[in-house]
Amino acid sequence: MALRLSTLFLRTLREDPADAEMPGHKLLVRAGYIRRAAPGVYSWLPLGLRVLRKVERVVREEMDAIGGQELSFPALLPREPYEATGRWTEYGPNLFRLQDRKGVDMLLGPTHEEMFTLAVKDMFSSYKELPLTLYQIQTKYRDEARPRAGLLRGREFIMKDSYSFDVDDAGLDAAYQRHREAYVRIFDRLGFDYVIVHADSGAMGGSASEEFLAVSPHGEDTFVRCEASGYAANVEAVVMPQATPVDASQVPAAHGEDTPDTPTIDTLVAAANADHPRADGRPWTAADTLKNVLVMLVHPDGSREPLAIGVPGDREVDRKRLEAAVSPAVPEAFDEKEFAAHPVLAKGYIGPGVLGAQKASGIRYLLDPSVAEGSAWVTGADEHGRHVFDLVHGRDFTADGTIQAAGIREGDPSPDGQGRLTLDRGIEMGHIFQLGRKYAEALELKVLDEHGKLVTVTMGSYGVGVSRAVAAVAEGTLDDSGLCWPRELAPADVHIVATGKDRAVFETAERLVVDLEAHGVEVIYDDRPKVSPGVKFKDAELLGVPTIVVVGRGLAEGVLEIKDRQTAERRQVAVGDAVGEVLVEIGHPAAVSFR
Ligand code: ATP
Ligand code: MG
Repeated sequence: MALRLSTLFLRTLREDPADAEMPGHKLLVRAGYIRRAAPGVYSWLPLGLRVLRKVERVVREEMDAIGGQELSFPALLPREPYEATGRWTEYGPNLFRLQDRKGVDMLLGPTHEEMFTLAVKDMFSSYKELPLTLYQIQTKYRDEARPRAGLLRGREFIMKDSYSFDVDDAGLDAAYQRHREAYVRIFDRLGFDYVIVHADSGAMGGSASEEFLAVSPHGEDTFVRCEASGYAANVEAVVMPQATPVDASQVPAAHGEDTPDTPTIDTLVAAANADHPRADGRPWTAADTLKNVLVMLVHPDGSREPLAIGVPGDREVDRKRLEAAVSPAVPEAFDEKEFAAHPVLAKGYIGPGVLGAQKASGIRYLLDPSVAEGSAWVTGADEHGRHVFDLVHGRDFTADGTIQAAGIREGDPSPDGQGRLTLDRGIEMGHIFQLGRKYAEALELKVLDEHGKLVTVTMGSYGVGVSRAVAAVAEGTLDDSGLCWPRELAPADVHIVATGKDRAVFETAERLVVDLEAHGVEVIYDDRPKVSPGVKFKDAELLGVPTIVVVGRGLAEGVLEIKDRQTAERRQVAVGDAVGEVLVEIGHPAAVSFR
């Protein structure tokens, strides 16, 4: 049935919603696709629901094509399975926990590895029943710290999650590969400009892991690419190589110097050049200094552990890389209270002299991998107003290990050694991931193998952000006049606008609606009798259906206008040819018989 604007449950808004910062979010609300119910929680109105269903259809078709079997788990879940895998605690404040009337703990599912694993454990017991791929398209709940941009980061959102079950690694590899190919088809069909990047496996703790990112300046994820080698990775997943050792035999013995009022790298470099110039005549730079950054790690069990990170002074510790590196612990700021509790730390002048599990502070000390064995540094001397020069890594100090937490910069060498990195931003649309045996072990999912021996099943986990895709497509396709859907996702194939007061106009439009529907075409029909043409045109542009047909003034000369929403190209067609011309325009299979 055509959606008639005279009766459709829709009210377009002229004003942007106050809480929206991104253009796509503003337009989805203004065009009456979604409505905010609470921060990060949205209702789907008729037009939005249509687009959502179309995204689901694409995802469903491609999952079915690789043999996925659809089922649906509840969102309201018992605590025990999540307790068994440690995620009841590990998920931290992102998990919506609740109690039933008897005081029994429950949760709203943030992702369903546990439930799938247990279902397979209950129902299957032999290698003969594997491989198996199960999926659902279902509502997830995460109490995100920063719900953002409407559907893009919701606290309630829709995800396609699938899980593969295999007896051996080769089976898992094959399942992973099939998913990868299905995802390529899904995102090609959804019309994204996307990249596939190596991803951090984070708290999930597995092996192969890739993300599909929609390239967008609004993205929250930063990724690197190397044009020379094709390497692409999320910044969190970039593993910089350990710098090769350098010869320190010519470096003089370390010497402490007074460097008053130099608590920052800039002030230190200036003072070093003024008062302690280098023997080789080259000026000191920030890259010659070793900066020691303190953070407080909060472990899943709530315990707190200070951590010191040594990075060259021209680099910053990147929050996201740090979070990934220390996960499942969460890094917090090391505040004044913490400094007061560790008097051995001279703030602004902290050096390797006191850092390390075996040193005076007892604080674990990790170095950036760019700090080569044998390299000499200017760094804090653990006294206010003093630094130590020519302190050589390996000769004068050591650390407890390395950490991949320093920021990556445009032009940094690619970790594969084949060129330089560029940085871009993206929105994570999908994630494919070899879980391995982590969940199967925790929940004891075993099957009998061909020799009658019990073996632990190996799993993959694969997600697509279905509701996020609606927002990302809106964001990636909109223009100054409104939304601008690709054909496969648009809420309708054609938007027919009838203008004026002339009865013939409405009769002609009505006939066109009926004829198009007879061909299975989805129609939005603006049949509102007392709305001005200007308002109708504006609404048509705002709603973003790819083909707009105007039945109006031209009718006196026997013509209608067909407009392409995206290119704004318009052409006039004779009333008698209108059905055929619209079918051609929308690429309808029946169109051939009209031309
Ligand atoms: P992000 O880093 O964006 O928080 P994630 O790594 O937590 O994502 P997964 O757990 O891998 O995401 O979930 C699978 C997919 O679900 C993601 O690729 C993303 O498209 C989608 N998704 C995750 N969190 C949200 C959210 N809060 N709102 C909407 N979609 C989401
Ligand atoms: Mg997340």
